[in-house]
Amino acid sequence: MQAKWIENLLALQDADLKIQGYETRLEILPKEMLNLKAERDKTIAAVNQAAEDARKFERAAKAAESEIAALQEESKKLEQQSAMVKKNTEYQAMLSTIALNKQKISDLESKVIENLELFEEGKKNYRKVKSSSEAALKDLKQEFDELGTLATDLKQEIAALQAKRPGLAAGVEQNLLRLYEQLKKGKSSAAPVVPVTGGICGGCHMRVTPQTMTDMARGAVTQCDNCQHIVYNPEEAE
Ligand SMILES: [Zn+2]
Repeated sequence: MQAKWIENLLALQDADLKIQGYETRLEILPKEMLNLKAERDKTIAAVNQAAEDARKFERAAKAAESEIAALQEESKKLEQQSAMVKKNTEYQAMLSTIALNKQKISDLESKVIENLELFEEGKKNYRKVKSSSEAALKDLKQEFDELGTLATDLKQEIAALQAKRPGLAAGVEQNLLRLYEQLKKGKSSAAPVVPVTGGICGGCHMRVTPQTMTDMARGAVTQCDNCQHIVYNPEEAE
């Protein structure tokens, strides 16, 4: 059987450690949520980029098509004019422009085909990126919502423990409570109350003195000579 004082003190410490743990978890939540938002924005940007990459080829194809139309229009006018031209040199010049336009049109037609093919590929890639992003966005949204729920749960847990805390503290003798609070504020990362296992202090990991062992066995309030933490024998709980 553990002494009553250690039972009560451990109950208080247990509540405090839980509060501390929940608060630490709560503190990092906003950053985690921001990271998820950034991830979401990145995913959406990648989809938009894939769409833009595809549209670039569509625009290039359309630009080539309108160049073709302009050249065809020019050639048509030249053909009409050529019928009325008297000078042979002028007539020849017109014919060579028409021939040149024909070549340009042929090159542009290849360009249209090439870009339309790339546009099709781009669309395929866009659909692939979009569908994988939809799954990713769904996961991100779910994760985000879960963190939101977790925040609410943690706040509730903390509030419940804090409401319970005065009752727990009331079960601890004044001087002992002061010592506990003092140790809690200390620099040590170990909890104020630590077990001694196999003669080793759970706070500083040093061997405790025989006197400490004796005091603990008596059920007296005992501190480690080295780290000053309040120590107890966990085997007494069995
Ligand atoms: Zn110690």
